[in-house]
Amino acid sequence: MTYKSMPKVELHTHLEGCAPPSFIRGLAKEKSIDISGVFNKDGTYAYRDFDNFLQVYEAACTTLQGPQDFYRLVKAVLQESAAHGVVYQETFLSPDFCGGGDLAAWRDYLAALETAAAEAEVEFGITLKGIVTCIRHFGPDAAKPAAICAAETFGDFITGFGMAGGEMVGRPNDYAYAFDMAREAGMPLTCHAGEWGGADMVADTITDLKVQRIGHGVNAIHDPKLVAQIADSGIVLEVCPGSNVFLKATGDWADHPIQKLRDAGIKVTVSTDDPPFFGTTMTDEFDMLAATFDWDSDDFKALNQTALDAAFCDPTTRAKIAKRLETQ
Ligand SMILES: [Zn+2]
Repeated sequence: MTYKSMPKVELHTHLEGCAPPSFIRGLAKEKSIDISGVFNKDGTYAYRDFDNFLQVYEAACTTLQGPQDFYRLVKAVLQESAAHGVVYQETFLSPDFCGGGDLAAWRDYLAALETAAAEAEVEFGITLKGIVTCIRHFGPDAAKPAAICAAETFGDFITGFGMAGGEMVGRPNDYAYAFDMAREAGMPLTCHAGEWGGADMVADTITDLKVQRIGHGVNAIHDPKLVAQIADSGIVLEVCPGSNVFLKATGDWADHPIQKLRDAGIKVTVSTDDPPFFGTTMTDEFDMLAATFDWDSDDFKALNQTALDAAFCDPTTRAKIAKRLETQ
């Protein structure tokens, strides 16, 4: 089997950011919502830079108005992921976009999300788990109810807590209260850092938020001592090269630090982040890694195994996915 037809594991996606443009357009039409600024003429998402990307992302999210919309979103997203061979996916879910941070409302959204995920598992052969995220640019006070939603619904489907959004807002320690709450509930943790922030942001995130995984983390490459520390600690990086190249968070593919991070002994995984926003898929990511760094089937097998080992799921799910990877 070549890497192209391999089953794939990805750990870093944002549910709304995976929404196919046709799905969002369809919802907007049904509800007569004006989202004219969201799309280019060719139907792709339209934005100028990362901050504008967050605005367009949130504008697209205005079409998602209730649990039933999120149910349909999960089905649309997982059908697309499964078409690219993804057999296990973790996705960031924000109570801020699902009920405004209210716990009772969040439970209603969650029930719809779980139902959709269970159906998609049967229909498309892909397993989804959710990581509750607070949104950094909404501020530390909004992170607390998100952490409560996470801790109260931690279980088979909600498997971890994390933070997404604008990385340059505040310092990691400002969000320690929310992360402490989730950790005390027994949740594994991840946080975006080192995509826009420097190596110091990655270091502070590790020290102050005590995470097991870092979203992106690529700017750690600028601090050799930190690179050695991450390698020694076993902290896993959720690297999204296509996203980084598209948004110019790093140089182009040839200059992307994933190879150097991996060579330094850091556990790296590969994900698509917000695939239709960045014109990527897991197939594209694998193709570019093969073309740029000569990764072969053995490299991709190892990549899948690292991702599965770092997944926040329960042991039964991990064993089930391991069996599916054996067919690669
Ligand atoms: Zn992300």
